[in-house]
Amino acid sequence: MSGSYDVIVVGSGPVGTAVARELADAGSGLRVLVLEAGQALGDTAGGHVKNIADVDERDRLLAGLATGPGPLPGGTPARPGTTLVGAPDMPNAAVSTNVGGMGAHWTAACPRPVDDEVPDCVDPAVLDEALTRAEALLAVTTHAFDRAPLTGAVQRVLGELFDRPHRRPAGPMPVAVTVGEDGTLHWTGPAIIAGDLWDRTDVELRTGTLVRRVLLDAGRVTGVEAVDLASGERHQIPARAVVVAADAFRTPQLLWASGIRPQALGRYLTEHPQVMAASLLDERYVPADAPIDADLPATAAAAPGGGAIVPVSGVSWVPYAADRPFHGQVMQMDASPMPLDPGVTVRPGQVVGLGWFCRKELSPDNRVRFDEDAADEHGLPAIRIDYALSDVDRASIGAAVDEVRRAARALGQPLGDPFVMPPGSSLHYLGTTRMGAADDGTSVCDPTGRVWGTENLYVGGNNVIPTATACNPTLTAVALGVLTARSLAASLAATPVAEEAHA
Ligand code: FAD
Repeated sequence: MSGSYDVIVVGSGPVGTAVARELADAGSGLRVLVLEAGQALGDTAGGHVKNIADVDERDRLLAGLATGPGPLPGGTPARPGTTLVGAPDMPNAAVSTNVGGMGAHWTAACPRPVDDEVPDCVDPAVLDEALTRAEALLAVTTHAFDRAPLTGAVQRVLGELFDRPHRRPAGPMPVAVTVGEDGTLHWTGPAIIAGDLWDRTDVELRTGTLVRRVLLDAGRVTGVEAVDLASGERHQIPARAVVVAADAFRTPQLLWASGIRPQALGRYLTEHPQVMAASLLDERYVPADAPIDADLPATAAAAPGGGAIVPVSGVSWVPYAADRPFHGQVMQMDASPMPLDPGVTVRPGQVVGLGWFCRKELSPDNRVRFDEDAADEHGLPAIRIDYALSDVDRASIGAAVDEVRRAARALGQPLGDPFVMPPGSSLHYLGTTRMGAADDGTSVCDPTGRVWGTENLYVGGNNVIPTATACNPTLTAVALGVLTARSLAASLAATPVAEEAHA
């Protein structure tokens, strides 16, 4: 497919793919082009790397991705599949550049937002339905680890500690994972969201193509300027509308480079300060005859794809509530991340990793900004980050450390002290093109994702989430992307092509 398009979507992560899928499913024959700077990892465009059965092949593909700068002071090496941005204020800030974006590497935890996490500029019933659609697109379930033998005990301990009448109870984490008939786990990457999308005649995924500019004429998008990264060839591609879903750093970067600079662009950057700990589940929770299902892979090496989480592991959840500014993600592992005393043997799932994500206070001073005097490797303005914790943030993190410590003790034998990860470690970056009810300088787009002051330019991703949240953001971002696609499809249907061409 070539020529002109109804919609160009920039980025093939979970949000870009969901937007393209909803537009294509709108049934109006829209011609959709998805432009992705990266390449497919393996045979399935946008497949999760943990589903690649051949572990050597998977490692080879990951090793082939750009690694970027090494860790900064206070930072840690980039997570596989990601590249560090290289920002001293947020040393672990990272991006992924491959088909599927970070969605080819993620842990797939998909809690719903609740209480003050929910954006108040979207009708709650509309958001609720969109979240349900997002759960279907991502194949979210709370039953992926039903057969994990020790998970019930972990959830009981967590429930006794943290359940309150007004809170959602501790329980299984909703995860975007499908359980095969043989019991193996299949991780949702954007390929699952896409379904047969890339085979449809009206939709095209073009990889290795970086968008350098959104082209605008008097507030109306006319297309994009893109570069084929292999040949260096630049070309303009016309379109009736553009949706930029290129992550929380590169979406505002592209708008900035295009001369689209609303006051709030890049501001209100937030993430989820992360507190980690590990505990060895007490023997009293592990009956000597605890059955280990012989059909289930018990170690990562034995699991298809070698993923660190296996069906016997379990992923549990201590949900967020407004009076408790964090949520807990509790993962049972097949091996200890810390050295254990000699002679200690553990059953798969007996080592419990605790990760608490904190809500961070919003501030316009926390921001991604762009350097006019320095360019990145593609000639786009270089990304800089200003980011600091407030006193309220430090108090939340301190409370999370206490809570994690209590949980680790209640579960059994803590393996070391809880520790706070360097800024950027959550890989959940939000707010940099946030939505709002009015164009009052505190938001970049309206509740449908349409950029203020433009007619047909939209943004999507965690960057549109306007609230201070603790929950993992992808489910919410996909739901908001669904609403963007529906609104855009309706607006294009109401504007015949010929009329637009003469506008
Ligand atoms: P991305 O997935 O980041 O995709 C953006 C895409 O845009 C990329 O493919 C990039 O190459 C492309 N792009 C950027 N600039 C351009 C350009 N100029 N031209 C063309 N293409 C461009 N989230 C959760 O909710 N739950 C979790 O459990 C979770 N675990 C995670 C674990 C790991 C290891 C990682 C890496 C991430 C995790 N996340 C998790 C975060 C999650 O993956 C992201 O929230 C999600 O992928 C965001 O989707 P997106 O489509 O907005 O952006």
